[in-house]
Amino acid sequence: MNRPTSQTVLSNTAARCDAPAAGREPTIHQRGQHEVFCGLTSIIWLHRKMQDAFFLIVGSRTCAHLMQSAAGVMIFAEPRFATAIIEERDLSGMADLHDELDAVVERLLKRRPDIKMLVLVGSCPSEVIKLDLSRAAERLNREHAPDRRVIAYSGSGIETTFTQGEDSFLATLVDECPVAEADAAPSLVVAGSLADVVEDQFSRIFQALGIENVAFLPTRRSDRLPAIGPNTRFLLAQPFLNEAAKKLERRGATHIPALFPLGEEGTTAWLKAASDAFGVDPARFEAVTAPGRERARKALESYAETLSGKRIFFFPDSQLEPALARFLSREAGMGLTEIGSPYLHRRHLAAELDLLPEDVVLSEGQDVERQIDRCHEADPDLIVCGLGLANPFEAEGYATKWSIELVFTPIQGYEQAGDLAELFARPLRRRAALKVEV
Ligand code: SF4
Repeated sequence: MNRPTSQTVLSNTAARCDAPAAGREPTIHQRGQHEVFCGLTSIIWLHRKMQDAFFLIVGSRTCAHLMQSAAGVMIFAEPRFATAIIEERDLSGMADLHDELDAVVERLLKRRPDIKMLVLVGSCPSEVIKLDLSRAAERLNREHAPDRRVIAYSGSGIETTFTQGEDSFLATLVDECPVAEADAAPSLVVAGSLADVVEDQFSRIFQALGIENVAFLPTRRSDRLPAIGPNTRFLLAQPFLNEAAKKLERRGATHIPALFPLGEEGTTAWLKAASDAFGVDPARFEAVTAPGRERARKALESYAETLSGKRIFFFPDSQLEPALARFLSREAGMGLTEIGSPYLHRRHLAAELDLLPEDVVLSEGQDVERQIDRCHEADPDLIVCGLGLANPFEAEGYATKWSIELVFTPIQGYEQAGDLAELFARPLRRRAALKVEV
């Protein structure tokens, strides 16, 4: 096993629901080929959130190259993720991989005293050779705790999509959270990575609403994990947290069902659900949220001309698709053709699905060739898809939006409603300008 590769790192300056189905059923179930990034990709935003954590991918050169190209940025400072490469001699059983991993970790922790949580991330190669990273994490923990914690989860790409990486990580993180006693004060956990600026805005709103003991998961520091127990209620900030939500519920926490905080409507409904759960007076809610609602509505007005009446097609990628489609249809006046999503966690998405137009095609899973045919048939103005499909569609004259950008960019909350609309307006304006030039 090699030392962590330097080419896979980023600057640290930048910072299936098993429950009974609710909401509408998808029109199309697909079981074909996927065209999505694997769960490793989520490290690109996760490493910015937890500032004392280090993500050590145990994988192949392919994994390292994926991280380098998906990250796509220059390295200026000490990295917070890297890949320990499994070499051929490791694969052929000529080396004891646990010994090699221990040696890599030893070197890394010696060189980087700032690392307080080491996250071992499994990959396809580590799973194929059955390298048990949970066992490795337990062993390493015995050696390095309490100063450093070592945890493990899988970012493997087989039949997964990139946002599942965050779900697996958060599910593992919940196991690390302290247990809150049954008589602990009521608390709110917001689960799902949000940009720091968005987190700060929501913190101020919760404070103004009088909701106390609010924690965001992942936390910015590994030693600030919230205690979770029967008096914990949790809001999901992201729609793809199936496993993490189950882990929270197993601890006794209660899910607060809500729309996701995208756009003015989604943000208001999300905050209102929390306010109702914590008994906030409706008049106080109105007073606290009215200015933000007004700003969001104003910001969205300027996008009406570009977005209203335009038709959009979603390929399955980020799992944000139904919530984005609801926002674009109800707040930006866009027409929906097909909304594809890799998985529809119907219990968490029930409120979103209920607000989608009756005639929209909803597809779950992927069969890329057939979906490309349906997209051509629908002939939309804008296609939301992964990087692999975007270039060929652009070459055909379609405007496209990379769905992965929607996970990297701060889009939740009142102040970001205009930025969210801008992400869809920009490719349409660009395509219109190209048409004029031609
Ligand atoms: S984890 Fe699997 S899918 Fe992801 S880069 Fe590595 S080999 Fe490829």
